[in-house]
Order: sequence, then C-alpha cells, then structure tokens
Amino acid sequence: MPKRQHVVIIGGGITGLTAAFYLQQEKEKGLPVTYTLIEASSRLGGKIKTIHREGFVIERGPDSYLGRKKSMTRLIEQAGLADKLVNNETGQAYVMSGGALHRIPEGAVMGVPTKVGPFIKTKLFSPAGKARAALDLVLPRREEADTDISVGHFFRRRLGDQVVENLIEPLLSGIYAGDIDRLSLQSTFPHFQDVEKKSRSLILGMKQNIPRPSDRPGAYGKKKGQFLTLSSGLESLVERIEEQLEPESIWKNKKVSGVAREETGRYRIDLEDGTNTHADAVILASPYSVTKHLLPEQLRVDGFHATPSTSVATVAMAFPASALKTDINGTGFVISRKEPTTITACTWTHRKWPHTTPEGMVLLRCYVGRANNQDIVFESDETILKTVLKDLNIIMDIAAEPEFYYVSRWIQSMPQYEVNHKQQWERLQANLSEHFPGVYAAGASYEGVGLPDCVASAEKAVMHIVKNLRS
Ligand code: FAD
Repeated sequence: MPKRQHVVIIGGGITGLTAAFYLQQEKEKGLPVTYTLIEASSRLGGKIKTIHREGFVIERGPDSYLGRKKSMTRLIEQAGLADKLVNNETGQAYVMSGGALHRIPEGAVMGVPTKVGPFIKTKLFSPAGKARAALDLVLPRREEADTDISVGHFFRRRLGDQVVENLIEPLLSGIYAGDIDRLSLQSTFPHFQDVEKKSRSLILGMKQNIPRPSDRPGAYGKKKGQFLTLSSGLESLVERIEEQLEPESIWKNKKVSGVAREETGRYRIDLEDGTNTHADAVILASPYSVTKHLLPEQLRVDGFHATPSTSVATVAMAFPASALKTDINGTGFVISRKEPTTITACTWTHRKWPHTTPEGMVLLRCYVGRANNQDIVFESDETILKTVLKDLNIIMDIAAEPEFYYVSRWIQSMPQYEVNHKQQWERLQANLSEHFPGVYAAGASYEGVGLPDCVASAEKAVMHIVKNLRS
C-alpha cells in the first residue's frame, strides 16, 4: 500500500472548496490521499455570500454564472443541487449614455455590431461614430496579430472611440471593473483576436459565428437566458460542499503566512499563529496578491498583477413595487464611464431572477467602484445609498427609500489582467514547476475571474495531483 499523500489547500473560496471536494471524492474512490483546507476567515465561500430575508434571496457577491462554461454546473450536479438550477429571464438590456437609457442594439456581440438595421437606428452613436465603426469592414489586420494588446487599443483601432466608450467599455467593465486601456485582450477576450486573424473584419467575422436560430438551445421554445444560478442562493453550494467534506480536514480562522520547501522535498506551511503543518502537494487558492507573499521571492514574477485589484461594492435594495413611479421594461443597464454618475451598472434583479423577490416587491442591485474611481466604496453605507438613489433617479422615478438595503464591500477583489498577463502566468507556473514541484496556483487571479473559470482551475490542479499520485 503506497503511503498516503497529504495535500494542503490554501483559501476556502469556490476554488479551494472545489479542490477539497474533488480530492475527497478521489479519497473515497480509494486514492491514498488526505487533504487540509486552510481558510483565514471564519467561513468558507470567499466572495460567495447569500442573504435570505423576508422571502428575498440576495446575493452579496456573484449572482450567477455563464452556463456554457460547464465546470460550475458539473460541480453543482456532483454536489447534489442540480434541481435548484435556474436560468435567467431574458429581457432588454440598456446602456446609459448622455443621461438616457439606450437599448443595446440587437445583434451586438460584446458590443461588436453584427446587424445593420439596429446599429443604424440606435442613438447611442453619432453618424460620424457609426461611419467610423463601419471602417472595420475595410481595415487591414493588425500586423503583430499574435502579440497581446489592450482591449481598448484593439477595439478603438477596429471600431473607433465611440463604440468603445458607449458600448464595449461599459459592457466589459461590468465583468472586470478594470481600465479597458490596460486590460489584456489575450487573457480576457482572446476570441476577438482570433476573429480578426481569421476574418480580418470583426463585424463580418462575428456575423459568421452567430448561431443560426435553429442551432440555439431552446430555439423552439421561449429563449432561455445564458446565465445560471441556484434558486436556493449560491451560498447553498458552499454549504452543501462543506457538509460533504470531513470536518477535521477544514481549518477555519487559520491564516497561512508562508510556504517553504524542506530538504525532504515536502512542504512546510506556516501559519500566522506560529504553528505549521506539512504537505506533499499544495494548492494555492488565495488571490495572487496574498499568494505572492507566501512564496519565496525568487518565484515571484515581476510586474504580474502590478496594478492592485479593483475595489467594488454592491448595493441591493428592496422596494414595494409601488415605489417605482416610472418602471422600465428590462433586466438592467450598464453605464458609460463618461457619464457623471457613480453607479457603474444596475440589475433589475426581480425581473432577471424572479425567484429572488416576493410578489409585489422590487429588488434592484447596483454596483459602485471602477478602476479609476474607487473612493465611493470606502464611504458609509448611508452615503453610498444616497449616491445610488440620486443616480437612479436620473432615469427612474423612485418615490421612496428602500424597505431595507445591503451594501457589500469587496476590497481589492477584481483582479486586473493587464497586457502580457498570459505570459506572466506561464512564467509563474514554470517557476513553481521548477522550484516547487507539486505546488499549483489556482483561482480568479489566473485564467478567468468567473466562477466556472475558478472551478476549472481547481479541477486542473486536482487532476495534476491525482496524475502524480497514480504514476
Ligand atoms: P475568493 O473567493 O477570494 O477566495 C479566496 C479565499 O482565500 C478567501 O476565503 C480568503 O479568506 C482566503 N485567504 C486569503 N488569504 C489567505 C491566507 N493567507 N490563508 C488562508 N486563507 C486565505 N463571477 C461570476 O462568475 N459571476 C458573477 O456574477 C460574479 N459577480 C461578482 C460580483 C462581485 C461583487 C465580485 C467581487 C466578484 C464577482 N464574480 C463573479 C467573480 C467571482 O465571484 C470570483 O472571481 C470568485 O468567487 C473568486 O473565487 P476564489 O476562490 O478564486 O477567491
């Protein structure tokens, strides 16, 4: 019987939890492995937090995930919560620009127009802006098509400033809360780089890629939304996984302060309370801003995540439906950074996710904090609420204070994937593999910030460990 290998997982967010869950499964299948999940705070789940109150289901952090990325659904199914999966209701989405809401033109794929009619009709761009975007049809490919470039630089060259500022930037910053002129195209939207390489024009290339109506899932019924969540709240996944882990393998309120390789080849994991534990393999599932201080200096990569993650806050507000004097038929809106507002986006959660809100009530969720303006996140709850309501009243007539509200601050929470992120990430992996074999970094700092990306990165780390154990 081979000796049991011990794996330490640092960080109990969705990444660390997934790793623990799949290692537990391997152990149950007979693999000689044990694990310890070490979490600095008193709870598991990291950015996933749900509040249940008076019939509302309120997400304080992530509220859903992109269904076509299968890793998260796989995890939910294996954890036994498949019956709680719900798709979003589809509806009109808007961009706020020039103090008014504009429908996102039909056929726009992440802001790239693929249908002529809605693009010509929209008031989101001036005639000059539209003419500039049409230049994409004739512009040549970028010469250094394989090198990384900022998202802003890439789209400005192809479609012009107006389409970028009024549509692409607000859509993308909703996901990354980053500066579009610094974000890496290769690490955020590599698909557009491929489209330019293949088809030259983004408009023509994206048009070819759009699934024909009969190819779309649910094409013959009501169109299903592309996002999924759990009707019981995303935190119910955290709880369900925790129930299935061995309690003695979960250490909460323990902050890791360093990881060192010993002469034996094993790893010593030092804790802030002065104690330590040992491991044969380690999964670093804390954000890179923490992880880099856990590793010896020689392993760190210069310039990697040099810009601190952006701080954001979500503001969830519950109103009686009668408080909204002018309601808008839609699921939400994003806001151009040129607007003099503080909020960056708003979801009409009661419309997008009806299960979250009791009859006769309305649930709005706004975001504040963007790459170059994060001060608002550090204001008091009252000031944030006042600012959010003032902004909302530009386009809606809200006649009352919310019955209750929650401000959730997420300090330095949105990692910034800047130009050359991919190359720096590859260097970090090479450093680990050379000097710290058996140590893997996973989570939102590396190959995607979405929940399915985090889950997939944990799956990958576990797969490496299992493969090594079997060989
Ligand atoms: P985290 O959740 O940050 O977990 C890391 C854990 O490590 C934490 O629990 C922390 O306490 C612990 N830790 C840190 N240091 C130490 C240490 N020294 N020792 C031990 N433990 C330590 N994604 C989507 O797919 N859909 C969405 O709708 C969505 N919305 C979002 C909204 C907001 C407001 C935010 C902030 C993010 C959103 N995201 C969304 C992104 C997604 O939520 C995150 O990328 C993901 O949850 C990160 O998971 P993680 O496990 O990598 O990190």
